[in-house]
Amino acid sequence: MEQFPIRVDEKSKIAFAEAKNYIPGGVNSPVRAFKSVGLTPFFADKGVGSRIFDIDGNSFIDYVGSWGPLILGHSHPEVMEVILETAIRGTSFGAPTLLETKMAKLVCERVPSVEMVRMVNSGTEATMSALRLARGYTGRSKILKFEGCYHGHADALLIKAGSGVATLGLPDSPGVPESVAAHTITVPYNDIEAVKMAFKIHGEQIAAVIVEPIAGNMGVVPPVEGFLQGLRTITLEYGSLLIFDEVMTGFRVDFHCAQGLYGIEPDLTCLGKVIGGGLPVGAYGGRREIMEMIAPSGPIYQAGTLSGNPLAMAAGFTTLNLLQPAVYADLERKSARLAAGLSSNTIEKGIASTINRVGSMICPFFTEHNVTNYELAKTSDTAFFNRYFASLLDLGISVAPSQFEGMFVSAAHSDEDIEMTIEQHREALKRL
Ligand code: PMP
Repeated sequence: MEQFPIRVDEKSKIAFAEAKNYIPGGVNSPVRAFKSVGLTPFFADKGVGSRIFDIDGNSFIDYVGSWGPLILGHSHPEVMEVILETAIRGTSFGAPTLLETKMAKLVCERVPSVEMVRMVNSGTEATMSALRLARGYTGRSKILKFEGCYHGHADALLIKAGSGVATLGLPDSPGVPESVAAHTITVPYNDIEAVKMAFKIHGEQIAAVIVEPIAGNMGVVPPVEGFLQGLRTITLEYGSLLIFDEVMTGFRVDFHCAQGLYGIEPDLTCLGKVIGGGLPVGAYGGRREIMEMIAPSGPIYQAGTLSGNPLAMAAGFTTLNLLQPAVYADLERKSARLAAGLSSNTIEKGIASTINRVGSMICPFFTEHNVTNYELAKTSDTAFFNRYFASLLDLGISVAPSQFEGMFVSAAHSDEDIEMTIEQHREALKRL
């Protein structure tokens, strides 16, 4: 087996110091700064398949995958080729293209509940726009979200949020007006009784319930039996919309997304990450009668200079076409092996852990509890996680620098990569 050299980070340290002079915290998205783990982030140089290389010449088996999009691994040859071919014809037109319809049609074919779809440029834009649509459609103001779920950084959704907000311990961000926050109701994930209570009090005012059908921003937390069905039933009863935020799970966990996996049809679906093949993209879609409320067919406004960008459409379309059912079967097999390996390593060391997994989303929590919501996710020993993260990185394994994020297995991870990861993980635990 390949041996990893000792990690050096001289160049990254210099680069980070320089970046901090000009970019807040030195990064363009908070979690990249490795702040909670107290390390200098490595500065990326290139990515190839399952590996990411930094400017100091280290290489890591990568389970971050650009935080989800890179389900085919880094710089997949077919995706690269189509990006280059497309770029030669121009990078943006501000006029409709054939590719946008092809992409929309493919998304409608694959995502069970989606009859029409609008492309945007990020997951944040997708959820923000879906909320506006839900409010405009129902004529109601309140929304219900779940503690520890992250839906991007729009004001109304930045309440008790997961991901970097949880990692940095900033549950309610300054800058969100109270008048906006007042319309957001939060309840614990997987707690259908709490949802029923909230609906008893506010039901007639709730425009939508927004949920990650598999939570991926408090670590990975699957829905318990009946939870998603319960949400579907209650929202129908009260005339509220059910929004699945599948920005992370969409085309990650199944050929037909999480809604296909669990057999639940939401009214609206938000997508991002995988559907952009590594380029900036988001999308929201759903039932025709709702989607037709969006301008110019309807009165609810939403627009974007670069929306439906040809490079993003080309990369996304190619990625989705490569993601055939056999790829998901292979991801399942490799991810199950990895999770089993991580689990037996922690048992061998006598470390309390719970490993949650759905398909290629995996999260080891260092707790003896089953993790079904954010409160339980927080029982994980995060100080231990931070040392574990550093140890893994030194051994050439890159995972997200936070307990409240998952690991993503990609199609590019070979069986050898998986075995090497289990081996290095064992070594990392031994060193702690
Ligand atoms: N929703 C979910 C479920 C996400 O995981 C994320 C990003 N991690 C977002 C929305 C926001 O997407 P973006 O970062 O592209 O704005």
